[in-house]
Amino acid sequence: MHDFRFVGNQLFCEGVSLASLAKKFGTPLYVYSQHTLTDHYQKLAAALAPVDHLVCYAMKSNSNLSVLRVLADLGSGFDIVSAGELQRVLAAGGDPAKCVFAGVGKTAAEIEFALRAGVYCFNVESEPELQRINRVAAKLKKIAPIAVRVNPNIEAHTHAKITTGTYENKFGIAFEDIAGVYARAAKLKNLRLRGVQMHIGSQITETTPFELAVKKVLPLVEKLKAKHGLEFFSVGGGLGIVYHSMLASGVPAWWQSAAAKNILTPASYAARLLPWLQPLGLKILMEPGRFISGNAGALVTRVEYVKRTGKKNFVIVDAAMNDLIRPAFYDAYHEIVPLIRNGKATLKSDVVGPICESGDYFCKDRPLPKVGEGDTLALLSAGAYGAVMGSNYNARPLPPEILVNGKKFAVARERQAVEKIWSDEKVVAWLK
Ligand SMILES: *Cc1c(COP(=O)(O)O)cnc(C)c1O
Repeated sequence: MHDFRFVGNQLFCEGVSLASLAKKFGTPLYVYSQHTLTDHYQKLAAALAPVDHLVCYAMKSNSNLSVLRVLADLGSGFDIVSAGELQRVLAAGGDPAKCVFAGVGKTAAEIEFALRAGVYCFNVESEPELQRINRVAAKLKKIAPIAVRVNPNIEAHTHAKITTGTYENKFGIAFEDIAGVYARAAKLKNLRLRGVQMHIGSQITETTPFELAVKKVLPLVEKLKAKHGLEFFSVGGGLGIVYHSMLASGVPAWWQSAAAKNILTPASYAARLLPWLQPLGLKILMEPGRFISGNAGALVTRVEYVKRTGKKNFVIVDAAMNDLIRPAFYDAYHEIVPLIRNGKATLKSDVVGPICESGDYFCKDRPLPKVGEGDTLALLSAGAYGAVMGSNYNARPLPPEILVNGKKFAVARERQAVEKIWSDEKVVAWLK
Protein backbone atom coordinates (compact mmCIF):
# COMPACT_ATOMS: atom_id res chain seq x y z
CA MET A 1 0.00 0.00 0.00
CA HIS A 2 1.16 3.56 -0.50
CA ASP A 3 -0.13 7.01 0.28
CA PHE A 4 -0.28 8.76 -3.09
CA ARG A 5 -3.86 9.00 -4.30
CA PHE A 6 -6.31 11.26 -6.07
CA VAL A 7 -8.77 13.15 -3.91
CA GLY A 8 -11.21 14.56 -6.42
CA ASN A 9 -9.02 15.73 -9.28
CA GLN A 10 -5.95 16.43 -7.16
CA LEU A 11 -3.07 14.09 -6.40
CA PHE A 12 -2.30 13.92 -2.70
CA CYS A 13 0.55 12.50 -0.65
CA GLU A 14 -1.20 11.57 2.59
CA GLY A 15 -3.09 14.75 3.55
CA VAL A 16 -1.12 17.19 1.39
CA SER A 17 -1.82 18.10 -2.22
CA LEU A 18 1.25 17.78 -4.44
CA ALA A 19 0.20 20.83 -6.45
CA SER A 20 0.40 22.93 -3.29
CA LEU A 21 3.92 21.61 -2.59
CA ALA A 22 4.98 22.32 -6.19
CA LYS A 23 3.69 25.86 -5.80
CA LYS A 24 5.45 26.41 -2.49
CA PHE A 25 8.81 24.76 -3.23
CA GLY A 26 9.05 24.88 -7.02
CA THR A 27 9.97 21.98 -9.28
CA PRO A 28 11.61 19.55 -9.73
CA LEU A 29 10.82 18.26 -6.25
CA TYR A 30 10.95 14.95 -4.41
CA VAL A 31 8.09 14.18 -2.01
CA TYR A 32 8.20 11.29 0.50
CA SER A 33 5.41 9.80 2.59
CA GLN A 34 6.39 9.03 6.18
CA HIS A 35 3.35 6.80 6.58
CA THR A 36 4.32 4.66 3.58
CA LEU A 37 7.87 4.21 4.90
CA THR A 38 6.50 3.25 8.31
CA ASP A 39 3.86 0.94 6.93
CA HIS A 40 6.30 -0.99 4.73
CA TYR A 41 8.83 -1.38 7.52
CA GLN A 42 6.16 -2.56 9.94
CA LYS A 43 4.67 -5.04 7.46
CA LEU A 44 8.08 -6.67 7.01
CA ALA A 45 8.81 -6.69 10.73
CA ALA A 46 5.39 -8.21 11.43
CA ALA A 47 5.93 -10.89 8.78
CA LEU A 48 9.22 -11.87 10.43
CA ALA A 49 7.79 -11.68 13.96
CA PRO A 50 7.71 -15.49 14.44
CA VAL A 51 11.54 -15.54 14.37
CA ASP A 52 14.22 -13.50 16.12
CA HIS A 53 15.01 -10.95 13.42
CA LEU A 54 16.56 -7.62 12.44
CA VAL A 55 15.45 -5.58 9.43
CA CYS A 56 18.47 -3.68 8.09
CA TYR A 57 17.13 -1.05 5.71
CA ALA A 58 19.41 -0.85 2.64
CA MET A 59 20.00 2.87 2.86
CA LYS A 60 21.63 3.12 -0.55
CA SER A 61 18.04 3.20 -1.89
CA ASN A 62 17.25 6.48 -0.07
CA SER A 63 19.58 7.89 2.55
CA ASN A 64 17.97 11.25 3.33
CA LEU A 65 18.56 11.91 7.04
CA SER A 66 14.83 12.27 7.75
CA VAL A 67 14.09 8.97 6.02
CA LEU A 68 16.81 7.31 8.11
CA ARG A 69 15.42 8.85 11.29
CA VAL A 70 11.91 7.59 10.57
CA LEU A 71 13.31 4.07 10.26
CA ALA A 72 15.74 4.34 13.18
CA ASP A 73 12.84 5.42 15.41
CA LEU A 74 10.98 2.25 14.37
CA GLY A 75 13.95 0.15 15.51
CA SER A 76 15.38 -0.52 12.07
CA GLY A 77 19.00 -1.43 11.47
CA PHE A 78 20.83 -0.36 8.31
CA ASP A 79 22.64 -2.08 5.47
CA ILE A 80 25.54 0.23 4.63
CA VAL A 81 28.00 0.11 1.73
CA SER A 82 30.51 2.83 2.62
CA ALA A 83 31.97 4.77 5.54
CA GLY A 84 29.99 7.74 4.26
CA GLU A 85 26.74 5.83 4.73
CA LEU A 86 27.77 4.89 8.27
CA GLN A 87 28.41 8.58 8.97
CA ARG A 88 24.92 9.30 7.66
CA VAL A 89 23.46 6.73 10.07
CA LEU A 90 25.29 8.40 12.94
CA ALA A 91 24.19 11.85 11.77
CA ALA A 92 20.57 10.64 11.66
CA GLY A 93 20.74 9.16 15.16
CA GLY A 94 20.75 5.50 14.03
CA ASP A 95 22.43 2.69 15.97
CA PRO A 96 25.78 1.51 14.52
CA ALA A 97 25.37 -1.75 16.46
CA LYS A 98 22.45 -2.52 14.11
CA CYS A 99 24.49 -1.88 10.92
CA VAL A 100 25.78 -4.48 8.50
CA PHE A 101 28.57 -3.33 6.21
CA ALA A 102 28.28 -4.76 2.68
CA GLY A 103 30.18 -4.20 -0.57
CA VAL A 104 33.05 -5.70 -2.56
CA GLY A 105 35.55 -2.86 -2.15
CA LYS A 106 35.83 -1.83 1.51
CA THR A 107 39.01 0.19 2.05
CA ALA A 108 41.23 -0.24 5.13
CA ALA A 109 40.14 3.22 6.32
CA GLU A 110 36.45 2.28 5.98
CA ILE A 111 37.00 -0.97 7.87
CA GLU A 112 38.78 0.90 10.67
CA PHE A 113 36.01 3.48 10.92
CA ALA A 114 33.31 0.78 11.06
CA LEU A 115 35.21 -1.25 13.67
CA ARG A 116 35.61 1.78 15.91
CA ALA A 117 31.91 2.63 15.48
CA GLY A 118 31.02 -0.95 16.46
CA VAL A 119 28.99 -2.26 13.52
CA TYR A 120 27.04 -5.49 13.98
CA CYS A 121 28.80 -7.30 11.13
CA PHE A 122 30.96 -7.01 8.02
CA ASN A 123 29.43 -8.88 5.10
CA VAL A 124 32.57 -10.09 3.36
CA GLU A 125 32.82 -10.68 -0.37
CA SER A 126 36.32 -12.17 -0.86
CA GLU A 127 39.19 -13.89 0.98
CA PRO A 128 41.57 -10.93 0.57
CA GLU A 129 38.90 -8.83 2.30
CA LEU A 130 38.82 -11.31 5.22
CA GLN A 131 42.58 -10.95 5.56
CA ARG A 132 42.36 -7.18 5.44
CA ILE A 133 39.61 -7.00 8.09
CA ASN A 134 41.65 -9.34 10.29
CA ARG A 135 44.75 -7.12 9.89
CA VAL A 136 42.89 -3.89 10.67
CA ALA A 137 41.18 -5.51 13.68
CA ALA A 138 44.54 -6.76 15.00
CA LYS A 139 46.00 -3.27 14.70
CA LEU A 140 43.09 -1.88 16.75
CA LYS A 141 43.20 -4.85 19.17
CA LYS A 142 39.60 -5.63 18.31
CA ILE A 143 37.63 -8.67 17.17
CA ALA A 144 35.75 -8.03 13.93
CA PRO A 145 32.36 -9.73 13.49
CA ILE A 146 32.05 -11.13 9.97
CA ALA A 147 29.68 -13.03 7.69
CA VAL A 148 30.64 -14.28 4.26
CA ARG A 149 28.33 -13.50 1.36
CA VAL A 150 27.33 -16.71 -0.38
CA ASN A 151 26.64 -16.51 -4.06
CA PRO A 152 23.99 -19.24 -4.45
CA ASN A 153 24.11 -19.09 -8.27
CA ILE A 154 20.34 -18.61 -8.58
CA GLU A 155 18.83 -16.68 -11.48
CA ALA A 156 16.52 -14.03 -10.05
CA HIS A 157 14.79 -13.19 -13.37
CA THR A 158 15.29 -9.46 -12.99
CA HIS A 159 17.14 -6.78 -14.96
CA ALA A 160 20.78 -7.68 -15.78
CA LYS A 161 22.10 -4.59 -14.00
CA ILE A 162 20.44 -5.64 -10.73
CA THR A 163 21.07 -9.41 -10.78
CA THR A 164 23.70 -10.30 -8.20
CA GLY A 165 23.25 -13.96 -7.26
CA THR A 166 24.79 -15.75 -10.23
CA TYR A 167 28.42 -16.55 -11.11
CA GLU A 168 28.26 -14.00 -13.93
CA ASN A 169 28.69 -11.11 -11.49
CA LYS A 170 31.18 -9.76 -8.98
CA PHE A 171 29.26 -10.39 -5.77
CA GLY A 172 29.89 -12.92 -3.02
CA ILE A 173 31.85 -16.15 -2.94
CA ALA A 174 30.81 -19.24 -4.91
CA PHE A 175 28.57 -21.62 -2.99
CA GLU A 176 30.98 -24.54 -3.46
CA ASP A 177 33.90 -22.63 -1.89
CA ILE A 178 32.15 -21.36 1.24
CA ALA A 179 32.92 -24.19 3.68
CA GLY A 180 36.66 -23.88 2.93
CA VAL A 181 36.55 -20.10 3.33
CA TYR A 182 34.93 -20.39 6.79
CA ALA A 183 37.50 -23.00 7.84
CA ARG A 184 40.34 -20.65 6.84
CA ALA A 185 38.60 -17.61 8.37
CA ALA A 186 38.26 -19.50 11.67
CA LYS A 187 42.06 -19.49 11.91
CA LEU A 188 42.27 -15.69 11.68
CA LYS A 189 42.56 -14.58 15.30
CA ASN A 190 40.86 -11.20 15.09
CA LEU A 191 37.68 -12.39 13.39
CA ARG A 192 34.46 -13.63 14.93
CA LEU A 193 32.37 -15.71 12.51
CA ARG A 194 28.98 -14.26 13.30
CA GLY A 195 26.75 -15.24 10.38
CA VAL A 196 26.15 -16.07 6.74
CA GLN A 197 24.71 -13.68 4.20
CA MET A 198 23.24 -13.81 0.71
CA HIS A 199 21.54 -11.36 -1.67
CA ILE A 200 20.42 -12.54 -5.09
CA GLY A 201 19.37 -9.31 -6.80
CA SER A 202 16.90 -6.47 -6.79
CA GLN A 203 13.31 -5.88 -7.90
CA ILE A 204 12.41 -9.58 -7.63
CA THR A 205 8.63 -9.78 -7.81
CA GLU A 206 8.03 -13.46 -7.09
CA THR A 207 8.77 -15.50 -4.00
CA THR A 208 10.18 -18.49 -5.90
CA PRO A 209 13.79 -17.27 -6.49
CA PHE A 210 14.07 -16.39 -2.78
CA GLU A 211 12.76 -19.79 -1.77
CA LEU A 212 15.08 -21.62 -4.19
CA ALA A 213 18.10 -19.71 -2.87
CA VAL A 214 17.21 -20.34 0.78
CA LYS A 215 16.58 -24.03 0.10
CA LYS A 216 19.90 -24.33 -1.68
CA VAL A 217 22.04 -22.72 1.04
CA LEU A 218 20.16 -24.09 4.05
CA PRO A 219 22.18 -27.31 4.51
CA LEU A 220 25.37 -25.28 4.24
CA VAL A 221 24.14 -22.77 6.83
CA GLU A 222 23.27 -25.62 9.20
CA LYS A 223 26.76 -27.10 8.84
CA LEU A 224 28.45 -23.74 9.37
CA LYS A 225 26.29 -23.04 12.41
CA ALA A 226 27.25 -26.38 13.99
CA LYS A 227 30.93 -25.91 13.23
CA HIS A 228 31.47 -22.20 13.92
CA GLY A 229 28.64 -21.26 16.29
CA LEU A 230 27.02 -18.70 14.00
CA GLU A 231 24.39 -16.30 15.29
CA PHE A 232 22.54 -15.13 12.17
CA PHE A 233 21.55 -15.84 8.59
CA SER A 234 20.85 -12.85 6.35
CA VAL A 235 18.53 -13.50 3.44
CA GLY A 236 19.39 -10.15 1.84
CA GLY A 237 17.03 -7.69 0.23
CA GLY A 238 15.67 -7.48 -3.29
CA LEU A 239 11.94 -7.63 -2.65
CA GLY A 240 10.31 -6.09 -5.69
CA ILE A 241 7.61 -3.47 -5.82
CA VAL A 242 4.87 -2.61 -8.29
CA TYR A 243 5.68 0.23 -10.67
CA HIS A 244 2.66 -0.12 -13.00
CA SER A 245 -0.93 1.10 -12.58
CA MET A 246 -0.34 2.57 -9.16
CA LEU A 247 -3.31 4.86 -9.44
CA ALA A 248 -5.53 3.11 -11.94
CA SER A 249 -9.06 4.45 -11.46
CA GLY A 250 -7.96 6.48 -8.47
CA VAL A 251 -7.23 3.56 -6.14
CA PRO A 252 -4.15 1.38 -5.93
CA ALA A 253 -5.74 -1.41 -7.91
CA TRP A 254 -2.60 -3.55 -7.79
CA TRP A 255 -3.05 -3.96 -4.07
CA GLN A 256 -6.48 -5.50 -4.46
CA SER A 257 -5.28 -7.87 -7.16
CA ALA A 258 -1.96 -8.72 -5.49
CA ALA A 259 -3.21 -11.99 -4.07
CA ALA A 260 -4.75 -13.01 -7.38
CA LYS A 261 -1.55 -12.34 -9.30
CA ASN A 262 0.63 -13.97 -6.62
CA ILE A 263 2.67 -10.78 -6.31
CA LEU A 264 5.25 -10.72 -3.60
CA THR A 265 3.99 -9.28 -0.33
CA PRO A 266 5.62 -9.45 3.11
CA ALA A 267 3.05 -12.08 4.07
CA SER A 268 3.59 -14.26 0.98
CA TYR A 269 7.36 -13.92 1.34
CA ALA A 270 7.25 -14.97 4.99
CA ALA A 271 4.81 -17.79 4.29
CA ARG A 272 7.23 -19.30 1.77
CA LEU A 273 10.49 -18.68 3.65
CA LEU A 274 9.71 -19.07 7.36
CA PRO A 275 9.03 -22.82 7.20
CA TRP A 276 12.67 -23.17 6.04
CA LEU A 277 14.16 -20.50 8.29
CA GLN A 278 12.38 -21.14 11.58
CA PRO A 279 13.91 -24.58 12.31
CA LEU A 280 17.42 -23.14 11.84
CA GLY A 281 17.23 -21.44 15.23
CA LEU A 282 19.30 -18.49 13.99
CA LYS A 283 18.54 -14.80 14.08
CA ILE A 284 17.23 -13.82 10.62
CA LEU A 285 18.44 -10.61 9.01
CA MET A 286 16.86 -8.97 6.02
CA GLU A 287 18.15 -6.03 3.95
CA PRO A 288 15.23 -4.48 2.07
CA GLY A 289 15.79 -1.13 0.36
CA ARG A 290 13.37 -0.55 -2.48
CA PHE A 291 10.51 -2.36 -0.72
CA ILE A 292 10.55 0.23 2.05
CA SER A 293 11.37 3.42 0.14
CA GLY A 294 10.34 2.83 -3.49
CA ASN A 295 6.62 3.52 -3.40
CA ALA A 296 7.09 6.09 -0.63
CA GLY A 297 8.34 8.78 -3.01
CA ALA A 298 7.38 10.77 -6.10
CA LEU A 299 9.28 13.19 -8.29
CA VAL A 300 7.21 16.26 -9.17
CA THR A 301 8.01 18.15 -12.36
CA ARG A 302 6.60 20.93 -14.51
CA VAL A 303 5.98 20.94 -18.25
CA GLU A 304 8.18 23.56 -19.94
CA TYR A 305 7.27 22.93 -23.57
CA VAL A 306 5.25 20.60 -25.73
CA LYS A 307 6.96 19.96 -29.02
CA ARG A 308 5.46 18.05 -31.91
CA THR A 309 7.73 16.64 -34.56
CA GLY A 310 6.43 14.82 -37.64
CA LYS A 311 6.12 11.57 -35.70
CA LYS A 312 6.17 12.36 -32.03
CA ASN A 313 4.68 14.40 -29.21
CA PHE A 314 7.48 15.45 -26.85
CA VAL A 315 6.57 16.71 -23.39
CA ILE A 316 9.68 18.57 -22.20
CA VAL A 317 9.77 18.81 -18.39
CA ASP A 318 12.05 20.50 -15.88
CA ALA A 319 13.22 17.23 -14.25
CA ALA A 320 15.91 15.24 -16.01
CA MET A 321 18.05 12.12 -15.89
CA ASN A 322 20.33 13.84 -13.36
CA ASP A 323 17.36 13.89 -10.94
CA LEU A 324 16.06 10.38 -11.70
CA ILE A 325 18.33 8.15 -13.78
CA ARG A 326 16.39 4.89 -13.53
CA PRO A 327 14.66 5.07 -16.94
CA ALA A 328 17.98 5.79 -18.69
CA PHE A 329 20.03 3.35 -16.62
CA TYR A 330 17.71 0.37 -16.13
CA ASP A 331 14.99 0.95 -18.74
CA ALA A 332 12.82 1.47 -15.68
CA TYR A 333 9.11 2.27 -15.82
CA HIS A 334 7.68 5.05 -13.65
CA GLU A 335 3.99 5.80 -13.83
CA ILE A 336 3.45 9.45 -14.80
CA VAL A 337 0.28 11.29 -13.79
CA PRO A 338 -0.79 14.94 -13.85
CA LEU A 339 -1.06 16.47 -10.37
CA ILE A 340 -4.45 17.80 -11.42
CA ARG A 341 -6.52 15.50 -13.58
CA ASN A 342 -7.79 17.43 -16.55
CA GLY A 343 -10.07 14.79 -18.07
CA LYS A 344 -8.49 15.31 -21.51
CA ALA A 345 -8.05 12.49 -24.01
CA THR A 346 -4.72 10.67 -24.03
CA LEU A 347 -2.00 11.18 -26.57
CA LYS A 348 1.07 9.02 -27.13
CA SER A 349 3.92 11.08 -25.70
CA ASP A 350 7.61 10.99 -24.85
CA VAL A 351 8.31 12.76 -21.56
CA VAL A 352 11.87 14.09 -21.76
CA GLY A 353 14.22 16.30 -19.77
CA PRO A 354 16.31 19.25 -20.97
CA ILE A 355 19.71 17.47 -20.84
CA CYS A 356 21.73 17.03 -24.02
CA GLU A 357 21.57 13.23 -24.07
CA SER A 358 19.18 11.03 -26.01
CA GLY A 359 18.99 8.91 -22.85
CA ASP A 360 17.36 11.81 -21.03
CA TYR A 361 13.79 10.54 -21.13
CA PHE A 362 11.22 9.28 -18.61
CA CYS A 363 8.96 7.41 -21.02
CA LYS A 364 8.48 6.83 -24.73
CA ASP A 365 5.28 6.62 -26.76
CA ARG A 366 3.16 6.39 -23.64
CA PRO A 367 -0.51 7.36 -23.74
CA LEU A 368 -0.77 10.33 -21.38
CA PRO A 369 -3.51 12.88 -20.88
CA LYS A 370 -2.82 15.86 -23.12
CA VAL A 371 -0.81 18.42 -21.14
CA GLY A 372 0.53 21.89 -21.84
CA GLU A 373 3.10 24.37 -20.63
CA GLY A 374 2.91 24.98 -16.88
CA ASP A 375 1.07 21.73 -16.07
CA THR A 376 2.63 19.63 -13.34
CA LEU A 377 3.27 15.89 -13.37
CA ALA A 378 4.35 13.29 -10.83
CA LEU A 379 6.66 10.37 -11.55
CA LEU A 380 5.53 7.77 -9.04
CA SER A 381 7.52 5.11 -7.18
CA ALA A 382 10.59 7.35 -7.24
CA GLY A 383 11.49 6.94 -3.55
CA ALA A 384 14.21 4.32 -4.15
CA TYR A 385 17.31 4.83 -6.29
CA GLY A 386 16.00 8.30 -7.19
CA ALA A 387 17.46 11.26 -5.28
CA VAL A 388 20.43 9.14 -4.10
CA MET A 389 21.57 8.67 -7.70
CA GLY A 390 21.21 12.35 -8.49
CA SER A 391 24.07 14.25 -10.06
CA ASN A 392 24.93 17.80 -11.06
CA TYR A 393 25.30 16.99 -14.76
CA ASN A 394 24.68 20.11 -16.86
CA ALA A 395 25.24 22.19 -13.67
CA ARG A 396 21.75 21.32 -12.49
CA PRO A 397 21.26 21.78 -8.72
CA LEU A 398 19.87 18.79 -6.81
CA PRO A 399 16.12 19.11 -6.13
CA PRO A 400 14.67 19.56 -2.65
CA GLU A 401 13.15 16.66 -0.74
CA ILE A 402 9.96 17.09 1.30
CA LEU A 403 8.73 14.70 3.97
CA VAL A 404 4.96 14.50 4.46
CA ASN A 405 3.29 13.15 7.58
CA GLY A 406 -0.50 13.39 7.51
CA LYS A 407 -1.32 17.04 6.90
CA LYS A 408 2.20 18.13 7.94
CA PHE A 409 5.10 18.62 5.55
CA ALA A 410 8.67 19.84 5.99
CA VAL A 411 11.85 20.30 3.99
CA ALA A 412 14.09 17.26 4.44
CA ARG A 413 16.62 18.66 2.00
CA GLU A 414 16.85 22.22 0.68
CA ARG A 415 17.12 22.85 -3.02
CA GLN A 416 20.86 22.99 -3.71
CA ALA A 417 22.19 26.48 -4.33
CA VAL A 418 23.77 26.61 -7.76
CA GLU A 419 27.11 27.97 -6.43
CA LYS A 420 27.42 24.86 -4.25
CA ILE A 421 27.86 22.81 -7.39
CA TRP A 422 31.33 24.25 -7.92
CA SER A 423 32.16 25.23 -4.35
CA ASP A 424 34.95 22.62 -4.15
CA GLU A 425 36.52 23.72 -7.43
CA LYS A 426 39.17 26.37 -8.00
CA VAL A 427 40.69 28.27 -10.85
CA VAL A 428 44.27 27.00 -10.47
CA ALA A 429 46.97 29.50 -9.48
CA TRP A 430 48.75 29.83 -12.83
CA LEU A 431 45.54 30.87 -14.54
CA LYS A 432 45.06 33.84 -12.27
C1 LIG B 1 21.27 -3.23 -2.94
C2 LIG B 1 21.34 -4.25 -1.86
C3 LIG B 1 20.25 -4.48 -1.04
C4 LIG B 1 18.91 -3.82 -1.24
O1 LIG B 1 18.34 -4.13 -2.46
P1 LIG B 1 16.78 -3.75 -2.70
O2 LIG B 1 16.49 -4.33 -4.01
O3 LIG B 1 16.70 -2.25 -2.71
O4 LIG B 1 16.01 -4.36 -1.60
C5 LIG B 1 20.38 -5.40 -0.01
N1 LIG B 1 21.54 -6.05 0.21
C6 LIG B 1 22.63 -5.85 -0.56
C7 LIG B 1 23.87 -6.58 -0.27
C8 LIG B 1 22.57 -4.94 -1.62
O5 LIG B 1 23.64 -4.75 -2.40
